[in-house]
Amino acid sequence: MSNNSHFEDVETMVAAMKPGYPVYCWRPAELKKNAELFLNNFPGRVLYAVKCNPHLTVLNAFYEAGIRHFDTASLAEIATIRDNFSDADCYFMHPVKSRSAILSAHDVYRVDHYVIDHEAELKKIIEVTGGGDGQVVIVRLATPQFDAAFALADKFGATPDEAVELLRKASAEGCQTGLAFHVGSQCRDKQAFVEALKVVREVIEKADVNIHYLDVGGGFPAHYVDDNPEPLERYFETIKQEVQKLPLRGDTVLMCEPGRSLVASGASIVVQVHLRKGNQLYINDGVYHNFSEALVAKIKFPMKLIRPNQKVSNKTDMFKIYGPTCDCTDVFPYEVELPDDVDEGDWIEIGMMGAYSNSMTTKFNGFFAETYVTVDAPMLRPEEPLNKTVAKKVEVEAAE
Ligand SMILES: *Cc1c(COP(=O)(O)O)cnc(C)c1O
Repeated sequence: MSNNSHFEDVETMVAAMKPGYPVYCWRPAELKKNAELFLNNFPGRVLYAVKCNPHLTVLNAFYEAGIRHFDTASLAEIATIRDNFSDADCYFMHPVKSRSAILSAHDVYRVDHYVIDHEAELKKIIEVTGGGDGQVVIVRLATPQFDAAFALADKFGATPDEAVELLRKASAEGCQTGLAFHVGSQCRDKQAFVEALKVVREVIEKADVNIHYLDVGGGFPAHYVDDNPEPLERYFETIKQEVQKLPLRGDTVLMCEPGRSLVASGASIVVQVHLRKGNQLYINDGVYHNFSEALVAKIKFPMKLIRPNQKVSNKTDMFKIYGPTCDCTDVFPYEVELPDDVDEGDWIEIGMMGAYSNSMTTKFNGFFAETYVTVDAPMLRPEEPLNKTVAKKVEVEAAE
């Protein structure tokens, strides 16, 4: 119900809807601001990594802000982009693709950028597309691991020597070439990009092939609780300095493909407490639904109690939070600070939930969230003092 409803703030939404199911609260203004930050400051082309959040509200906001390039990993993602934005470009950035997906991407959707990290994948692309000048083959490199919530170098990426061979072969097939890497999601150390670009230098020097595209990937961090990395502008500045030192031809296109940092502050989720047992809270959303990153990467999200027009205790306590399914793994792996009188029927707004949330939910045990509203009020940020925010809101409501 109530999809696309619009509210001034989350408290007003809760007072109006009293939702017994989780509600996504989009912040279109945040999405626009994040897109503009990248478009105005990253020294190259900005691709949005669709897997992070493929909801049309997100895609529309980014398109309206000026993003025209999309990192897609499947035919379904490509179709979503091309069917909605006919002038947008898709890049097929998954290093492992089925032949039928390559064929449809090439013939139906006119995709011409393909990532590979192995010669069997190169062979596949040449056989299916015919290769030649219209095709861009981008070689994904494995790069050194730094502090990140998710490491990707184990699963994908060629060694420098393999990359040299792949670039030469792609070039010999008449394709344009590129290099790409991904430092890992929520990368907390911009040195990861410096070290990755050293690997890029090694490969460029050895391969002696024109590199038409250089893609520094995603991994740019968002701001979570106890996890406040340097501003993105400093990442961009570092990348710019390092890329300038590379022996590239003047017309190499620099690209990035962020997901998380573009979309994390674009949505919060309002959940409801369905039972309190001592300091254990059972809520209606969990690790099989929007909070898998709490479990697998221990990401901590800002939380705020919402109890419209009623007082909230200004003391806090630590709580263990259980999700709605019958599964014992459906529990947050850390305790959360909330007002000590939190109880059944209260709502909790959980902020910074735009990334890897709705895109990763299952319908396990019959629980799922499909209600989306938009909210004008700014995103709930990690630095907001828990009690002050709650108390202030209650005063405002009471004065009305
Ligand atoms: C997941 C992914 C991204 C986006 O990563 P974020 O950490 O969300 O920025 C970009 N590129 C590739 C190849 C990916 O797999």
